[in-house]
Amino acid sequence: MFNQFLGLFSNDIGIDLGTANTLVYVKDKGIVLREPSVVAVYTNSRRVRAVGDEAKVMLGRTPGSITAIRPMKDGVIADFDITEAMLRYFIRKANGGKTFPQPSVCIAIPSGITEVEKRAVMESATHAGAREVHTIPEPFAAALGVGLPVDEPAANMIVDIGGGTTEIAIISLNGIVFSKSIRVAGDEIDLAIINYMKRAYNLLIGERTSEEIKMTIGSAYPLDTELAMEVKGRDSVAGLPKTIHITSQEIREAMGDTIGAIVEAVRITLERCPPELSADLVDRGFVMAGGGSLIRGIDKLLSEKTGLAVTVSDDPLSAVANGTGVFINNIEDYRRIAADL
Ligand code: ADP
Ligand code: MG
Repeated sequence: MFNQFLGLFSNDIGIDLGTANTLVYVKDKGIVLREPSVVAVYTNSRRVRAVGDEAKVMLGRTPGSITAIRPMKDGVIADFDITEAMLRYFIRKANGGKTFPQPSVCIAIPSGITEVEKRAVMESATHAGAREVHTIPEPFAAALGVGLPVDEPAANMIVDIGGGTTEIAIISLNGIVFSKSIRVAGDEIDLAIINYMKRAYNLLIGERTSEEIKMTIGSAYPLDTELAMEVKGRDSVAGLPKTIHITSQEIREAMGDTIGAIVEAVRITLERCPPELSADLVDRGFVMAGGGSLIRGIDKLLSEKTGLAVTVSDDPLSAVANGTGVFINNIEDYRRIAADL
């Protein structure tokens, strides 16, 4: 009762604790914050130097005294203390620095996370000032966020390609029928591009550059008009800075195996799907979310490989955060549902 009374005054918060980006949704306001899930700490003392945007700029550019960390990188919590510091920073920032009244918080977490890690996230949010904390699996939040009718007795399938993990789930009656999380997503694609540049051109590039190549000319399916760009890095033989010209065909080739692993995971999920729900998918197809769904032609490739209709959601980078928003806006209903997820 008292909780409900407080709820009238507090701005409840939804958090997409992603492997690449953290987004915060505030009730009645929408998404108020989107920053990289990166924390820079002093190497010796582990004291936090910067979080989010400010810390991402430091990745690959730190002196020995500072370490930039992505605590959620592979969809597991690499460092509890750092994750807690990051959550606290984001919750305080979204809450306008206020500590009272304390918000209820809904956090979407990668579905591969262990029970211990889940508890740690919940405790971190409590330490950070949350009055009540719920967690929901990321693909469930994505499905809510893109507006799938997850409460119906029918198959709702979502494929969320993030930075560290690709999360695939089939949902019916507000529950997850089958889900699969693989540690192959945007980061692995970036790595494949780094390896290709080294192999084909003796060119050493960093993660920021390879991500830029992926976004600028990367594709999963042949393009009507193929693209090209200049890439700068360091020649591994001569040791000097160098510029080369690359095409979208080459990069598609470089990304091929990694994208292939994602296609395979989608196929495995479909093979595990109970037949009645498979029948629904023939009619409904599936929806893609996450930054990785923005790779050119990935929807076309997946549609060709599965025979299903594939839709990329309108704002794939916001799907999970919007889903946590649906949760906190209807917290009385979802409180019960979350307990059973
Ligand atoms: P997470 O939920 O794991 O934090 P996101 O859904 O925020 O991940 O997606 C981040 C990933 O999406 C990164 O690997 C990033 O490089 C990739 N990404 C973002 N925009 C694009 C784009 N336009 N084209 C290709 N990949 C993209
Ligand atoms: Mg995500």
